[in-house]
Amino acid sequence: MFSGKTALVTGSTSGIGLGIATLLASRGASVMLNGFGDVDAAVAQVRGSGARVAYHGADMSKPAEIEALVRACEAELGSCDILVNNAGIQHVANVDEFPVERWDAIIAINLSSAFHTMRLALPGMKQRGWGRVINVASVHGLVASAAKSAYVAAKHGIVGLTKATALEAATAGVTVNAICPGWVLTPLVQKQVDARAARDGVDNEEAKRRLLAEKQPSLRFTTPEQLAELTAFLCSPAADNVTGVAWAMDGGWTAQ
Ligand code: NAD
Repeated sequence: MFSGKTALVTGSTSGIGLGIATLLASRGASVMLNGFGDVDAAVAQVRGSGARVAYHGADMSKPAEIEALVRACEAELGSCDILVNNAGIQHVANVDEFPVERWDAIIAINLSSAFHTMRLALPGMKQRGWGRVINVASVHGLVASAAKSAYVAAKHGIVGLTKATALEAATAGVTVNAICPGWVLTPLVQKQVDARAARDGVDNEEAKRRLLAEKQPSLRFTTPEQLAELTAFLCSPAADNVTGVAWAMDGGWTAQ
């Protein structure tokens, strides 16, 4: 489905980004990976389908490194046709106790990085008359939770950024959409499960059950594979006229 296309997926060494990169590669895209941690394992997984895979270790809080990442994608894979802004971090604390350095990092990685990748990749997409941008927002782009001010601000911001950029690109063959997952059991959420287990004095399974019961009516985690299928749909010809949306996959979280 995506042969001849290239995809840049930020934060793709783990969790949702790795799931999206793996699926796009298995459908024929050449993929530029990015992120920290076990890079070799991520590259091996995405390459599994025989896809062309490159990696760049840009820190998504640093504009100069982000520029180097986009340019490396264009130089090594030929273009940047599909851009998935996925890199993200979390910190949980009330506003009056929120570390200033964590606020700045969350805004930089979860919001500003998408501005930078888009400003750099959009001219090429417009010139080629085809492009797809998927911004991995969150239910927290649509509703709030206590103790997540920076994350909620960044994710609401990325939903607004998605809409504005979609309008600018509307006649250029380029669509710009956000996807809004509820709970997905990745390392980012496991930390919150661990905190819940410690706080309530319960085991891992009970902590997961309580986390889900509080917010996600389906009582099931969404999976990276399901979010990857949604991303692939938004990149497909059937979604050619879908732009500027914020699409929830949240087991009913935002229906409440
Ligand atoms: P994760 O921790 O498994 O993966 C995060 C990825 O981002 C990793 O590859 C990590 O190396 C990378 N990363 C972190 N900081 C970076 C930096 N400065 N520069 C480059 N890469 C960096 O987390 P995840 O749950 O897969 O989260 C992916 C995205 O999905 C995030 O934007 C997150 O906000 C969003 N999201 C997650 C959930 C969930 O329940 N897990 C729900 C809604 C939205």
